[in-house]
Amino acid sequence: AVDDLLKHADQAMYAAKGAGRNRFSYFTPALQVAALNRMRLTNDLRGAVKGGKLRIYFQPIVHLRTGRIHKAEALVRWQHPVRGLVSPLEFIPLAEASGLIVEIGEWMLRESAHWALRWRDEHHPAFQVSVNQSPLEFQREGEGYERWFEHLRAIGLDGAALVVEITEGLLLDASDSVTRKLLQLRDAGIQVALDDFGTGYSSLSYLNKFDIDYLKIDRSFTRNLAPQSSDMALSEAIIVMAHKLGLRVVAEGVETELQRALLLAAGCDYAQGFLFSRPVPADEFDTMLRSQRALA
Ligand code: C2E
Ligand code: MG
Ligand code: MG
Repeated sequence: AVDDLLKHADQAMYAAKGAGRNRFSYFTPALQVAALNRMRLTNDLRGAVKGGKLRIYFQPIVHLRTGRIHKAEALVRWQHPVRGLVSPLEFIPLAEASGLIVEIGEWMLRESAHWALRWRDEHHPAFQVSVNQSPLEFQREGEGYERWFEHLRAIGLDGAALVVEITEGLLLDASDSVTRKLLQLRDAGIQVALDDFGTGYSSLSYLNKFDIDYLKIDRSFTRNLAPQSSDMALSEAIIVMAHKLGLRVVAEGVETELQRALLLAAGCDYAQGFLFSRPVPADEFDTMLRSQRALA
């Protein structure tokens, strides 16, 4: 009946969006199966969030000139009891669609703040933890970041201990609320990184207009780095531009010694990738920091 028709239309719309928006898509029974799968996975995700089953992993961000770990990116992990590890690329969209992203984000923030406090105390007073914010979290009306700030005050953590990673798309259709939130973060001393830089619209005027502290060069540029390659030229250009604007650069997805050497030579500030370490649980990251200190 009408309900079914609307449901099917909705499923076709979801498929069209998933294929990159601005297109149409016909309903097929396969879509219904996919929708059912999403529904089940969303339910399982809700259970995992309520049951405290999500995990936080950290991946080192290495200062290229010294080779030392200066920062960490916090990444959420979900070990599904039947499916095994589900990629955030799969479940973050479900979390966004269902609103669970808000709870996940707040939990990730509290965990990140907890570890940042400890690592600043025990490892380096300038240590930073980077947390990802999906557009939906960032643009949320209402409470905004007040609850975060309250929590930071409560545990006595300086805002400078945190970096918020957002994507370029957010700045493109920058509403007042986006501008306001960026200012809010700056007032609290929290820095901002543009994640996956170079893959979106890279509207350069926004780098000046907003207070951005770091550019994270997307993995797709790092992957094919070779002397004289076009990705090398692009990476070099991004680094020079960022530095002229007073931003620091983090290269993502560094997997080989050659990539590390080329980025260092190009003046890139920081690097992150499997060459240094995969994302690991907090206690393993803690051990990594300790053994680094023992070496020094
Ligand atoms: P991202 O923020 O760009 O995170 C970097 C991703 O690259 C991570 O994938 C990391 O495991 C992966 N990576 C790091 N080094 C390498 C490398 O050398 N080679 C390769 N092939 N991959 C590398 P992950 O953890 O699967 O996360 C995927 C995306 O999910 C993240 O991309 C981020 O957009 C999102 N995400 C993860 N955790 C959160 C979270 O807590 N909140 C929100 N809103 N999004 C999150
Ligand atoms: Mg990120
Ligand atoms: Mg990224």
